Amino acid sequence: MELGVRMYRIYDYNSYIRYKMFGNSRKMPNDACSSGVTDQVAHQGLLTGLRHIVGNRHVLTHARATRRFTTGFRFGGGNVLAVVRPGTLLELWRTLQECVQFEAVIVVQASNTGLTGGSTPAPDGYDREVVIISTLRLDSLFVIGDGRQVVCLPGATLHKLEKELRPFDREPHSVIGSSCFGATVVGGVCNNSGGALVRRGPAYTQMSLFARVDAHGSIELVNHLGISLGNAPEEILRRLQSGAFCGGDIENPNWTASDKDYETCVRDIDARTPARFNADPRRLFEASGSAGKLVVFAVRLDTFPLERESKVFYVGTNCAEELGRLRRVILSKCASLPIAGEYLHRDAFDLADHYGKDQFLLVERIGTDHLPRFFDLKSRCDGFCARQRWLPANLLDRVLYAFGRLWPDHLPRRLREYRQRFEHHLILRVSLDSYEEMRSLLFDWHRANESGYFDCSEVEARKAFLHRFVVAGAAVRYRAIHSREVEDIVALDVALRRNDRDWFESLPEDIERKLVGKIYYGHFLCHVFHQDYIVAKGQDCMALEHAMWRLLDERGARYPAEHNVGHLYVAESPLLDFYRTLDPGNRFNAGIGQSSKLKDYAPPATSKTHRCPNPHAQASDPSHPTTAKKELSL
Ligand SMILES: Cc1cc2nc3c(=O)[nH]c(=O)nc-3n(C[C@H](O)[C@H](O)[C@H](O)COP(=O)(O)OP(=O)(O)OC[C@H]3O[C@@H](n4cnc5c(N)ncnc54)[C@H](O)[C@@H]3O)c2cc1C
Repeated sequence: MELGVRMYRIYDYNSYIRYKMFGNSRKMPNDACSSGVTDQVAHQGLLTGLRHIVGNRHVLTHARATRRFTTGFRFGGGNVLAVVRPGTLLELWRTLQECVQFEAVIVVQASNTGLTGGSTPAPDGYDREVVIISTLRLDSLFVIGDGRQVVCLPGATLHKLEKELRPFDREPHSVIGSSCFGATVVGGVCNNSGGALVRRGPAYTQMSLFARVDAHGSIELVNHLGISLGNAPEEILRRLQSGAFCGGDIENPNWTASDKDYETCVRDIDARTPARFNADPRRLFEASGSAGKLVVFAVRLDTFPLERESKVFYVGTNCAEELGRLRRVILSKCASLPIAGEYLHRDAFDLADHYGKDQFLLVERIGTDHLPRFFDLKSRCDGFCARQRWLPANLLDRVLYAFGRLWPDHLPRRLREYRQRFEHHLILRVSLDSYEEMRSLLFDWHRANESGYFDCSEVEARKAFLHRFVVAGAAVRYRAIHSREVEDIVALDVALRRNDRDWFESLPEDIERKLVGKIYYGHFLCHVFHQDYIVAKGQDCMALEHAMWRLLDERGARYPAEHNVGHLYVAESPLLDFYRTLDPGNRFNAGIGQSSKLKDYAPPATSKTHRCPNPHAQASDPSHPTTAKKELSL
């Protein structure tokens, strides 16, 4: 089979429901915007159409029911006409057709663990109604080629993928902090998500099945999966949904299904650019990095040999420069790269110790399988509590925090000792065959300076990583508990130059005194850092954030590194151009990267720039959904 672009056009698609309801004389939605009555009629038409496609139960319109979909995990949120939850790929396709026909803005959402508001609508500024399409019911995946690759439908989670691959002695392309919170494979590809794995780089593939809409509203289904599934969209989607393809249908074209250059890239320690960042044009391809500007029906990805046995070293030092030197030695000298190299500063250690303890215990005790359900329940309880004005703010956070305080010490003794002795902490996971090499490298390194390291037991290793992964949630919890002293958190996701030796930030005094605390943690060997600043009450978070951006620009850093622009960051030109190519009519996720939210990217009438209003002002408004749900974030 020749693997060129296969396109299937749907011209003049007419919703039979709409015509059944309104006939040909009904005003088109654009006109309807000018009149309240016709607006209502148009909305009813769209809702009726959607209900016919997915069933009543799966079209949510009430604020209580839509809350967890319309509110970002850490940031963002806005109103929608409906949340639609298709149960099959065909329903997803028809939902798309219906929304396009009615000129709705479409936000496709997976697990909604995105941190920058890109998985939820913005609070305002749209010229059309917004519909969220939640893909979580479409959670099938198919292991192909003896487990060497996998085809994932849009709701399949990384956690599920990990479990399905285990019998094949394989593992997924990425492990991110939110893997245990139900993040999906497709959400990761759409965000070019990064994570903890040093050898693999961002989630990336050139093989996907997606729908795009051209400037005139024609919908195309593009099959770049490299799997022969038939010709008509309905046939393709039905066959894929039921896994009705065999080895003979699977081609192995010259397309890549992972970021194969990353190891070379990350090892290039003298390069003047970061190893990875969201606006990197090398990793923008169709579904990869599309951030909701297409509708992705499936992705095909490489899998990797399972590292059944690995060893973990816990490293501590008081000298940032020395730790930077260790990074350079590891990346340039080690025959095999470590699996992961996660950094946390002593302040981050302390914050996670006090304010992340309950989250630590939840993951440890409840297990990843049940965690998404727990967070769903928490979101509902938060919604309920927010409506009971007599209850104190953030009640559930306070209860969970108190529960954590009562529980006996959860951290191993040696981690505590290192906390006392050292400011900078690095957790290194290596394969068994590079254990000796790393041990002798660390031995030489620590003798040359005031540093230390130890070989973790299995329990210490597990707890050290878990402690690292609950850091940022701890900052959010801190804000909830200390809401009187804290204005908000400015969270930056930064990629430093690979040759940057001066990696540890020092802030000017005028910024420093506006902060209650700073928390540094991240993917150290990749030079990707998460920097959360807890801003003192009464300070202007937006101004602070912009001041930080300027400092980062001076250092040649790029941002965001892996969380994507969402509605928080300004998209750089190559990224915006990419979005415009994918979605010329601005029908999908309009406004991300602080671009226009209007049809065809028309410039907003009231503002000369495309910058969104102060996101932190939204975040501190108690009635805004952003503040309504503040949970674990990275
Ligand atoms: C605790 C925690 C830890 C985290 N750790 C990391 C980390 O280590 N590294 C990292 O990179 N990120 C991290 N994140 C951020 C986030 O989890 C990732 O961006 C993740 O990949 C998003 O997956 P999701 O399934 O939640 O997708 P969503 O958040 O639902 O969506 C992400 C984007 O993809 C788009 N999208 C989703 N599905 C489709 C589809 N079918 N078609 C078209 N567009 C679609 C959405 O519109 C959105 O723009 C973390 C988040 C949390 C809460």
